[in-house]
Amino acid sequence: MFDLLIRNATLPDGRAGLDIGVRAGRIVAVEAAIAGEAAEVIDAGGLLVSPPFVDPHFHMDATLSLGLPRMNISGTLLEGIALWGELRPTLTREALVERALRYCDLAVSKGLLAIRSHVDVSDPRLVTAEALLEVRERVAPYIDLQLVAFPQDGYYRCPEAEAALSRALDMGVDIVGGIPHFERTMEDGARSVAALCRIAAERGLMVDMHCDESDDPMSRHVETLAAQTVRFGLQGRVAGSHLTSMHSMDNYYVSKLIPLMAEADLRVIPNPLINIMLQGRHDTYPKRRGHTRIPQLMEAGLTVGFGQDCVLDPWYSMGTGDLLDVAHMALHATQMGSGADKRALFDAVTVNSARIMGLDGYGIAPGCNADMVILQAKDPAEAIRLRPVRLKVIRRGKVIAETAPELSRLALDGRPDRVDPADYAPRHAS
Ligand SMILES: [Zn+2]
Repeated sequence: MFDLLIRNATLPDGRAGLDIGVRAGRIVAVEAAIAGEAAEVIDAGGLLVSPPFVDPHFHMDATLSLGLPRMNISGTLLEGIALWGELRPTLTREALVERALRYCDLAVSKGLLAIRSHVDVSDPRLVTAEALLEVRERVAPYIDLQLVAFPQDGYYRCPEAEAALSRALDMGVDIVGGIPHFERTMEDGARSVAALCRIAAERGLMVDMHCDESDDPMSRHVETLAAQTVRFGLQGRVAGSHLTSMHSMDNYYVSKLIPLMAEADLRVIPNPLINIMLQGRHDTYPKRRGHTRIPQLMEAGLTVGFGQDCVLDPWYSMGTGDLLDVAHMALHATQMGSGADKRALFDAVTVNSARIMGLDGYGIAPGCNADMVILQAKDPAEAIRLRPVRLKVIRRGKVIAETAPELSRLALDGRPDRVDPADYAPRHAS
């Protein structure tokens, strides 16, 4: 007897025609034609059943604040930071909680069930940390939320940040953040990386820094981050977010840097939507794309997971809560268009990010949490192409969100009477 049985699923690895049996919130069987009764049966109809989407880089304290107190006119990272600085003193715990919960509703509808959010700790009131710790608890039944203590105004540049970051960690914020490229000097940036890695080592925490979010090829804090990771024995527990300066770095230098990053098992978190929007702003033409070296880093065996960074906030007036939008942008901007590339991009919004967050029980296999998304698409490549409807979002064996399939009715003589976008999956591509 199962609590839930999903029939005829296609998995992201290409296996098709499988049933998934769920009992007590866990997956207990993944096989063809499972026999037995179930309290609830869902026919996936051969469509893609994926583990949930994972966003390893977000700002839940800023989300849905677009227009407060005004719009970002230049569209740059620096005006975004200045604008956030204007908004920050007016923030209240109640308003932060309400916006974050509202965003989480949207995330669930998109099958996004794990999020790592940075929390700005530059304002010593720490109302942001208080609010998001409350949100972490309130959404725990449906979203795994990790919080990063993020000194937005600089760990050394902002006089209150050192003490506030430490207090935020004492309050229960999970991860040590940083922003070395925003410190006053390269030296301060490097010092901040060393100090923050030391704090993580002493407290037994992970590190996730905004690092080299710049077009300056000499912004090389990623090198220091990798070296300090090895120095403190933090391999596999440190992430570098953005790393956009790598786009512009000298190739010879990168040929030494990437093996150093691999030695540190540094986790890499590009944010393709934000990076293409904010980078290259000082360029005329040609204009740089502003991504880190995604295919090269993947080829070197580094774990690369994509984040959204922003939805409707001072830095980005777009965003949908859909990690497939992120993969779609990454595909175009990196020109990763082969079948194998698309699989790798799908991994970058699912399993890779789950590994970066250290999620337990993630995946579609016996023993894993029964957390799944049924998409109106036939495989991962089609999912990236279509960014389709999430027909069912399942958490611990229960459907927590449903969306009706997208079907258009046609009134054309001699033509079919309906169009299902999933039916257009190419038959001969692989
Ligand atoms: Zn960010």
